[in-house]
Amino acid sequence: MARLVFPRPRPGDEHDLGWWAVLDLGRSDYQLPRAGAFAGLGMIRVPHDCYSIVRERATRDAVHAEPTREIDLDCLTCAACCKDNRVELEDGDVARFESAGRAELAKPPYAKREDGKLILVLRRDKACKHLLKDRRCGIYPIRPSACSTFPAGSECCLSAREEELGVVDGARA
Ligand code: SF4
Ligand code: SF4
Repeated sequence: MARLVFPRPRPGDEHDLGWWAVLDLGRSDYQLPRAGAFAGLGMIRVPHDCYSIVRERATRDAVHAEPTREIDLDCLTCAACCKDNRVELEDGDVARFESAGRAELAKPPYAKREDGKLILVLRRDKACKHLLKDRRCGIYPIRPSACSTFPAGSECCLSAREEELGVVDGARA
């Protein structure tokens, strides 16, 4: 059996990396042991179908001497998470587009329905249609909440960087 142990998530913090680590393993709940070595920490049992992912990450992180480390991330030179992604639009996003006079952003060719969800359309090269050549977001002030809450440094972020930039473990590109 494998367990994921992480700092207790801060309620209401959409960028809490511990919480995102839980979500990344397909879970939305966690335990808070009151006693023992893990008291005060969050913990979940790793689902069996995630063992290989966790093993890969443990191997990746084994090169570091300490259990925690600082990673130097610069979203402005990265934009890996704006490629080959699936950004679902929420009602609040559509309302924000409308308020900004950009109601068309919730319609083709910018957005489409898929599996009952409204999602952003990607370009042929699989980058988001709103991604500019200089890697900035063309609709940054009104970008979807899925984008504004996406946490730099999360496993999703590091995976995107590995896949899109070939950068391992958050090292600067
Ligand atoms: S992948 Fe991570 S570092 Fe890169 S732009 Fe997205 S959040 Fe920022
Ligand atoms: S809307 Fe902006 S931040 Fe969101 S994926 Fe597209 S380019 Fe990236």
